[in-house]
Amino acid sequence: MLPLQGRVALVTGAGRGIGRAIALSLARHGADIAVNYASNDKAAEEVRDEIRAMGRRAEIFKCNIADDTAVHAMGETIKKVFPAIDILVNNAGITRDKTFMKMTHVEWDEVVGVNLKGPVQMTHLYLPQMVERGWGRVINITSVIGQMGNFGQANYAAAKGGLDAFTKSVAREVARKGVTVNCVAPGFIRTDMTAGVPEKALEHIKTITPMGRMGEAEEIAEVVSFLASPSASFVTGQEIGVNGGLYM
Ligand code: NAP
Repeated sequence: MLPLQGRVALVTGAGRGIGRAIALSLARHGADIAVNYASNDKAAEEVRDEIRAMGRRAEIFKCNIADDTAVHAMGETIKKVFPAIDILVNNAGITRDKTFMKMTHVEWDEVVGVNLKGPVQMTHLYLPQMVERGWGRVINITSVIGQMGNFGQANYAAAKGGLDAFTKSVAREVARKGVTVNCVAPGFIRTDMTAGVPEKALEHIKTITPMGRMGEAEEIAEVVSFLASPSASFVTGQEIGVNGGLYM
């Protein structure tokens, strides 16, 4: 029997990049998947079809996770298909890079809205039923930038650092209820998010990463699947770095 057989996972931002890899990995390990995304219907449909081809159930749910009203509406729609969510992966994230002194309130709010408020709203929606059922996994995708800080990413670093602190607090609150709450903090991973980074900057990142390369989305996904599995039953409140040694 596969380790996640009979479990249902909801992955935000699962149409592309790391979220896509996480959804596929969880499905390979036996879970049925609710695929959330923001706007790219085609990408989400492809993920859904790939999961169904593995013999698992999969449905797509379009929703901006920064919008509280939309999140609650999505929750109602999901409930009709998947009455309970066992594994919540808060993966969706965006960047709006600019040095802090030039950063606008809008750029700050957008990044904090998707990267911090979004996971908080999603967790608020699904944590009570996990506690009630006595089993659950919340896995938040943070970033090495939240651990180290970065030039031009004050909004993103603050949101990811905040998400880590949120994780640890909630992990303590539900530790005796059968629910674990953890983070996975990727280093620099090859996705659309990093595709726009200039070649020179990417070369620098490889130079300062002890393993001398960027990571692949699948290398994040496998750690998420481990945290979701029964093998990680005594792991909670952790931020696991998957960064090629960039931050130790
Ligand atoms: P990506 O390739 O840009 O994909 C982002 C995904 O999130 C897309 O599926 C997108 O939906 C979805 N999304 C964006 N805003 C959303 C919203 N408001 N509501 C719902 N879904 C939304 O990003 P990625 O590189 O895979 O990053 C995934 C996560 O890893 C993020 O939290 C990011 O901060 C974190 N991370 C990435 C790296 C890296 O090097 N790539 C490093 C550290 C941490 P659509 O497809 O519909 O647009």
